[in-house]
Amino acid sequence: MPGLRPARRAVRITVGGVVQGVGFRPFLWRLAERFGYKGWVKNIGSGVKIHLEAEKNTDFGSFLRALEEDKPPLARIERLELRPAAYRGCADFAIKKSEEGESFVFISPDIATCQPCRQEIADPSERRHRYAFTNCTDCGPRYTIVRSLPYDRPKTTMAGFKMCPDCRREYEDPRDRRYHAQPIACPVCGPHVWLQEARSGREIRGGIDMAAGLIRAGKILAVKGLGGFHLVCDPRRPGAVRRLRAIKERQRKPLALMARDIAMIERYATVKPAERRELLSASRPIVLLQKKKDLPGTAPYLDEVGFMLPYTPLHHLLLEKLGLIVATSSNPKDAPIAKEESEGIGGLCDFILTHNRPIQTRADDSVLKLAGDGPLFLRRARGYVPYPQRVPQQLAVPEHIIALGGELKDTVSVYKNGYVITSQFLGDLDEYRNFRYFEETIAHLERLFDVRPRVVVSDLHPHFRTTRYAAKLGLPHFQVQHHHAHVLAVLLEHQVPVERKVLGIALDGYGYGQDGGAWGGEFLLCDYSSSTRIAQFKPVPLPGGDRAAREPWRMALAYLREAYGEKVPALSSLNKISKKHRDLILKMIASGVNSPLTSSCGRLFDAVSCLVGLAPEEVEFEAEAPMRLEAASRPDVRIPYPYELLTDSDPWQLSFAATIREIVRDVSRKRAPERIGAAFHYTLALAIAEVCERVRQVHGVSTIALVGGVFLNKVLLNMTLGTLHRKRFEVLRPRRYSPNDESISVGQIAYALARLKDRP
Ligand SMILES: [Zn+2]
Ligand SMILES: [Zn+2]
Repeated sequence: MPGLRPARRAVRITVGGVVQGVGFRPFLWRLAERFGYKGWVKNIGSGVKIHLEAEKNTDFGSFLRALEEDKPPLARIERLELRPAAYRGCADFAIKKSEEGESFVFISPDIATCQPCRQEIADPSERRHRYAFTNCTDCGPRYTIVRSLPYDRPKTTMAGFKMCPDCRREYEDPRDRRYHAQPIACPVCGPHVWLQEARSGREIRGGIDMAAGLIRAGKILAVKGLGGFHLVCDPRRPGAVRRLRAIKERQRKPLALMARDIAMIERYATVKPAERRELLSASRPIVLLQKKKDLPGTAPYLDEVGFMLPYTPLHHLLLEKLGLIVATSSNPKDAPIAKEESEGIGGLCDFILTHNRPIQTRADDSVLKLAGDGPLFLRRARGYVPYPQRVPQQLAVPEHIIALGGELKDTVSVYKNGYVITSQFLGDLDEYRNFRYFEETIAHLERLFDVRPRVVVSDLHPHFRTTRYAAKLGLPHFQVQHHHAHVLAVLLEHQVPVERKVLGIALDGYGYGQDGGAWGGEFLLCDYSSSTRIAQFKPVPLPGGDRAAREPWRMALAYLREAYGEKVPALSSLNKISKKHRDLILKMIASGVNSPLTSSCGRLFDAVSCLVGLAPEEVEFEAEAPMRLEAASRPDVRIPYPYELLTDSDPWQLSFAATIREIVRDVSRKRAPERIGAAFHYTLALAIAEVCERVRQVHGVSTIALVGGVFLNKVLLNMTLGTLHRKRFEVLRPRRYSPNDESISVGQIAYALARLKDRP
């Protein structure tokens, strides 16, 4: 009988996800007010708990819809549970104190300064006019300042700044847009910026304005940002750019630029709508854009240049004066980005623009570009870390897991309660200082997310420092083959079910193979716990081992020998290398001395880049030769070269000997590199598609995963996607992680989960 039902209702709602430190509780307060509901909300370990009371008969449906639809921009709801509760007759809707909890709390990445905060900084009547640490509930530092959870001010690097009465009032008022903004600050009570001479450390008057003047005058400055220091100079002064390169010991590696606004970027590069969206997103990544007008020395030999927009008030204030700066991470070669002056910053620049808000966690700028079908990450760090990745329900296990990744471009991942958290990009761990960064990051992630690993996962490579580190932990230790891990990262990201088989196409420079060989052009039929190599690029010698990866002409000779036997043709592009040196390497190849075999796709790119005359004699950074080939290739040319798929061996082999012979013919005919490059890319796309077709016929598998650093090549990726889609394959590729080795630790977690699930 409806008339007898009490016209009062109460529910208890638990919300999990990224809901702390993102303005979720004040949002709920306002929402409750809008609906006229009473009760309370509080942070609990795993999210927020809400008690809701209505003095009428309701199922709270519209409240829940509004909760999902109007939630704060940074919030991510991963789960929501609702159960009936006893009506208590609450007098209002209260925001209660945090409860320290056992389980998994997520935290937001650092978020670029929001529009209302920017307006305040620009407004002379505001008390935060030109204040470099202005932030609010919707913006500001998060991951880089938090020391432990729950996310409250005393547990951040803002702990040492006591709020003034004005800030305190804003902080405590649920109607204020700074309600519980933990890094809240103002000129009276917060951190401050100053300028100092690099070597003497002597403070110089004039702050940000003076810094801008010095940059304009050609000086090099270190500027403290969110996750570390940038080295900054004026890109329109070639002398300053040259000096900056000399300091970084990088002659050609692309330098990122920071521009005041989109209009400034458009003077130098083309900005498509999707690229504009990424540039303006709250994560503020560096976006690689097509060059329009070259800024000499910033990205030599390449057709793309990386731009980002200001993401802290300090950047906005600095760029207001300058319009455009080079902003590259302040690390000496092969060391992590510096976060403190004491890490040798003084030796890298003329002046330092710094401040006294400590950086807890280093994080480089993230880098992405837009492929035909969405974002393609080159580096995932500031602005994206530590967003969690959910694992398929079938794979969830109770144990905590830690995965250590590979060695180059490393990340580490931790697993707990159904989620994976992956660290920021850590760099190459064969460098001592980067290895310290690796250890520092593991300790931080374990503390922050209260992870107590019961299982460790590493690469198969017996000599990686990460493998040895894993072995010493005294935990059950799984090892995963490099390219299998690449594929698994994508399966996890796309929530592929456990029973599904996929064909993983893993193309990169190097990974330690199941047989100990140097793999890098692999077609793996796999699921989470197993992997079978169906096909590979036909192996060729790596004359001189590691040196062949640095000197592309060695690979050109290896491929010429493969294509022509002993009668290697003379090519003008190889004339830079003395005949004596070439003959020596050819002899090495013929005798097999110090020439292990490799199926690496990266090395094939090196060879072709050299044959068409684009590769440097010695590369300065990974993939330099392939990047030049990609930059030169016209993606609209669709004339393939011949290649061969040999299916009488196990695994099948893709041979590019015929491709090389055609390329040599075209080079001798003086055909333009842009046509040769495009034809080569297209040939690869067709070869990949043919293997996929055969695998579909033989094994009935029609889901393809495209992984490995080679798929950072937009020309190849777009051609391959186009070809596979026309043939009606389902194609998976990483969208939230980089296809390069940064994703290895993610795949390693997936493998460990599958193995733990397989336990009898
Ligand atoms: Zn804001
Ligand atoms: Zn204040």
